[in-house]
Amino acid sequence: MSKNKQTAITPIREENYAEWYQQVIKAADLAENSDVRGCMVIKPWGYAIWENIQKALDAMFRETGHRNAYFPIFIPKSYFEKEAEHVEGFAKECAVVTHSKLEHDGKGGLKVAGELTEPYIVRPTSETIIGASFAKWVSSYRDLPLLINQWANIVRWEMRTRLFLRTAEFLWQEGHTVHESEAEAREETFKMLEVYARFAREYLALPVLTGTKTESEKFPGAVDTYCIEAMMQDKKALQSGTSHFLGQNFAKASQIKFQSRKGEVEYAWTTSWGVSTRLIGALIMAHSDDNGLVLPPRIAPSHVVIIPIYRSDEEHSQVMEFAERIKQTLKGLKLDDVMIWTELDDRDLTNSERNWYWVKKGIPLRIEIGPRDIAQNSCMVARRDKEPRDKTSVAIDALSAYVVQTLSEMQNNYYQKALDFRTDNTINIDDNKEFYRFFTPRNSEQPEIHGGFANSHWCGDSACEEKIKDDLKVSIRCIPFDAVEEPGKCICCGKYSQKRVIFAKAY
Ligand SMILES: [Zn+2]
Repeated sequence: MSKNKQTAITPIREENYAEWYQQVIKAADLAENSDVRGCMVIKPWGYAIWENIQKALDAMFRETGHRNAYFPIFIPKSYFEKEAEHVEGFAKECAVVTHSKLEHDGKGGLKVAGELTEPYIVRPTSETIIGASFAKWVSSYRDLPLLINQWANIVRWEMRTRLFLRTAEFLWQEGHTVHESEAEAREETFKMLEVYARFAREYLALPVLTGTKTESEKFPGAVDTYCIEAMMQDKKALQSGTSHFLGQNFAKASQIKFQSRKGEVEYAWTTSWGVSTRLIGALIMAHSDDNGLVLPPRIAPSHVVIIPIYRSDEEHSQVMEFAERIKQTLKGLKLDDVMIWTELDDRDLTNSERNWYWVKKGIPLRIEIGPRDIAQNSCMVARRDKEPRDKTSVAIDALSAYVVQTLSEMQNNYYQKALDFRTDNTINIDDNKEFYRFFTPRNSEQPEIHGGFANSHWCGDSACEEKIKDDLKVSIRCIPFDAVEEPGKCICCGKYSQKRVIFAKAY
């Protein structure tokens, strides 16, 4: 890439990826830090992406038999104490409510008062409180399976935060299900992981690896955790969704029991699964470029912007009339199941300012209309996946078909591009020295983009996993479902290994 090329975002990815990420968010006006430490304000363009994520996933949950419900944000401390391993995993990052009111302190301020007899934890995840309800709802095999989803906010008291990737409060969905048998609960766990993988592929244009988490990376309290992992453009992994088989652990802690078909009282089998506003972080880091946000059309808040170009008042009314007509023409068009939305940007800004504004926001198509276009009954169309100044003349009669087809093509191209990038940056490594070289930046002062996914043998010992994490900040992202059985040597200790796992640096 030429160093002196003009870009809308400074610094560019190669110079400082972390700062580039913040600048893309700012330029697209997706979100900002709030006065409340660690909490973000999600602005309309960013929130609309979340709403589209919700819409698509919610339909998929519904198709697979799930229904939405809502449970309290406050979870009594005693609920958490029922499941030891679980509390271990979350205790360090909980917000705890200890008082119930405010009183005047006599000096013009307020003081907290009304200490609670039992503190409440502000929802870090809902297994325990949902379990308490499920225990009441389930009494017979006839009540099963119970398939519930909740859209909610979560608080994890993070100290080092980053917009969308790690914030003290974030938005998510959490599915919680109860089953008669282990086999059925396991099937549900895989089914929902596949829903996430399909959603990532088809809407976010994000290729994901599916696999099992190692013992040390799994959800506290789960028997098995499965995940989808995506590669970002800095070659780091981002865990984009998880699905947990909880065995009977939470059923025992919450007393979720049922009378079986044989008339015996048994503990149920449960699962939970979730994705969060982190997906927006994944979307930004997987697709955006040095000119700002890039949005796959199926998840974009808006798809087309019409930019009227005029020099006089007379031209203005003529161009606006034509622009409105085009907006009407595009109204009601769909890209598969997604409604295509059109903006009309008539703000008192230069053509260039309006164009760059929308480039940075990642709108897929920009349509310019000037007096000359009206005369020819055509318009100039620019695509976000081409150079900003690349434009194509399209006849108005052909515009609707062009828009739908181009958006569909862009969606596919973004997926293919991300897949090619991952393929190019995934390698089999069998030599320990090469492995260390792969994950060590040449410039440790200001690390350049390096590494990728290393597909290497691992003996299964958590000591080896731990050593690599300590040495290189590299973790096992997953044991891929499609890993083939082949004899090899552990990349760390050299002992016998049965299969390769995915090592990477991660968010
Ligand atoms: Zn080993």
